[in-house]
Amino acid sequence: MKKLLFGAFALSMLAACNAGEDHLLNQEQTDDLTSGSSVTQRVCPSEDIRKEALANNPDLMARFVDNESKTEKFIDDLKMGRVLADGTVEIPVVVNVLYRTAAENISDAQIASQIATLNNDFGGTNSDVNKIPSEFASVAAGDTKIKFRLDRVIRKSTTVRSWRTNDAMKKTSSKGQDAFKPANYFNIWVVGDMGGVLGYATFPESAGLWNDGVVIAGKYFGTTANAPYNLGRTATHEVGHYLNLRHIWGDGNCATDYVDDTPTQQDKNFGKPTYPQYDLCGGVNRSIQFMNYMDYVDDAAMYMFSAGQKSRMQAITNASGARSGLRIY
Ligand SMILES: [Zn+2]
Repeated sequence: MKKLLFGAFALSMLAACNAGEDHLLNQEQTDDLTSGSSVTQRVCPSEDIRKEALANNPDLMARFVDNESKTEKFIDDLKMGRVLADGTVEIPVVVNVLYRTAAENISDAQIASQIATLNNDFGGTNSDVNKIPSEFASVAAGDTKIKFRLDRVIRKSTTVRSWRTNDAMKKTSSKGQDAFKPANYFNIWVVGDMGGVLGYATFPESAGLWNDGVVIAGKYFGTTANAPYNLGRTATHEVGHYLNLRHIWGDGNCATDYVDDTPTQQDKNFGKPTYPQYDLCGGVNRSIQFMNYMDYVDDAAMYMFSAGQKSRMQAITNASGARSGLRIY
């Protein structure tokens, strides 16, 4: 319906162009006649000039239509509460639980604990936020303005004992569960076991595809007894990827994560490092941000996103981003 309305609007813009040209001609004539006289009434020809340009330039018209379409979507999102007044985006979450044993069929409470952890970590309200060293406090993300709301839980019994990272769990035809409307819902698959893998994610170039989402081994989903991966930070890390964050070491020796405020570091860190740690890259010895969610440290040792990471995530979730379809409907 919206598209139809907008299409009619674009057509009316085209139809109005001839009138606009006439007006321009008239105005030029009038200007000639009144040359030298002072303005007695305000006149702005911008829209008429634009109409003529749009009528003569299909590329410009396509850009105009694209801008209006995105603007309309943003305003609709605001009206419908899909984006809150302060710009916060709420992402609806579908949790697909694939279980073989009763223990693998995780409880609603465990799922709720994971959603709460995501909202705390992305909202900057995590209980360990005070551990951020003062050196990095000034570049901490605080509230990323990205929230998560559980929409539904889909539970399915399966005979699969251990899953690999080949996306089989995302297809009903391979004993998994098809994604639920992945362009509009953030799908998480919770599986019983993935060998030595805690979880994995797709990046925004996969937005809306059949395999789009995050997979987490159930033992590490939400608040559990499975230290050191017991605080739900596996999902925080994987959702970071889903929203276009790279590993903080850039997946290479002194490589880039395309974020300015995460110091270049040589490699991943494990366990519970003691602050400060220094890495030598390009001849510069830097104190590294190993407590970032996008490093490999234990759940209890990671407690911040940076402001630069927040910007990357907002770029993907805003009205023109690859994940702009993720809204409460
Ligand atoms: Zn990762």
